[in-house]
Amino acid sequence: MTSETSRGELHIVNLYPRHMNIYGDRGNMLVLTRRTTWHGLTPVVHEVNPGDELPERADIIVGGGGQDSGQVTVADDLQRHGDALRGLAADGVPMLMICGMYQLFGHRFVPIEEPELPGVGVFDMETVGGPVRMIGNVVAESDDLGTLIGYENHSGRTLLGAGVAPLARVTQGDGNNGDDGFEGATRDNVIGTYLHGSLLPKNPAVADFLIETAARRAGLETVEVSEHDHIERARRQAAERPR
Ligand code: GLN
Repeated sequence: MTSETSRGELHIVNLYPRHMNIYGDRGNMLVLTRRTTWHGLTPVVHEVNPGDELPERADIIVGGGGQDSGQVTVADDLQRHGDALRGLAADGVPMLMICGMYQLFGHRFVPIEEPELPGVGVFDMETVGGPVRMIGNVVAESDDLGTLIGYENHSGRTLLGAGVAPLARVTQGDGNNGDDGFEGATRDNVIGTYLHGSLLPKNPAVADFLIETAARRAGLETVEVSEHDHIERARRQAAERPR
């Protein structure tokens, strides 16, 4: 598809790609930009690193995972954007936050060896670092997005408050805390999850939810994307992997 056939632009914001990008989380941006093009729209990518401002237009906002030390680096800077991010979330802007950024979208994260980090409170939840890391392949069932497949590696244990819903229930893996069976969180059109992998290549339903929601909000029409067999094969293979 060429830009001549584009029906408009989608502005995709990547929060802190320099510090918050592990286990291939960058792949989420590759999938979003490619599938945006398949949907007949032109992706415009904005990278926001510490010290940068948010762009004027943000149709989708994405953040990745990171070590506790990376979270220490970005946490204060993220506070500068707290009001804007809470406002955009309440306005229905679709967002996807993975692991480390998912934790910082709660009220706070208390790492095991670092001082407590403030979050932006987009999600009513908090996370406390524990002595045991939760590591391995994950399969989780979401009512809205179907079977989610990915990989987790975190020591933070996340507990959801009353103001947020779980994204999915784990059928394999630990998810938010290894106890309550929940994986991730969702409110309005914001999704938070522990799943790396990266997530979107194996979960195109999530990518299309973000793109189609963003397009609808921007008053843009999308074209139907026909699914490729290799995505379904990759999903099946990944789902059959041992923990
Ligand atoms: N540092 C966080 C934890 O271990 C997040 C890790 C990650 O993003 N994979 O809980």
